[in-house]
Amino acid sequence: MDCIFCKIVAGEIPSTKVYEDDKILAFKDINPCAPVHNIIIPKEHVLSSADDITEDNAEIIGYLFSKIPHIAKLSGLEEGYRIINNCGTHGAQTVKHIHFHLLGGKQLGEKLC
Ligand code: 5GP
Ligand code: ZN
Repeated sequence: MDCIFCKIVAGEIPSTKVYEDDKILAFKDINPCAPVHNIIIPKEHVLSSADDITEDNAEIIGYLFSKIPHIAKLSGLEEGYRIINNCGTHGAQTVKHIHFHLLGGKQLGEKLC
């Protein structure tokens, strides 16, 4: 599969890893829009976007979210942070391997859109 994030998981594209276990990977975004901007992904490319989530495959998403406080601590985000998922065309999703942006390191704006 020609997927940038699968290539990052496989080590074919270098990345700065923030957290890794057998199920998920967090790495620094190549084009950060905040002092801390990490991408968190399931390693396995089962879900292309949030729109693919079902009751049968949602376990990995719950697992990923259970690790967010730990990844945030590793990233120095004691004052809080924002999690964003871009989904589909109107959501401006560019990489079709489900991922969550972890943003922080400064006071973020109140508006989401
Ligand atoms: P999306 O717009 O799909 O929600 O976000 C994709 C994100 O992946 C973007 O913020 C983009 O900067 C990041 N990205 C794209 N290609 C690479 C890459 O090769 N390495 C890293 N570290 N981030 C990437
Ligand atoms: Zn992928």
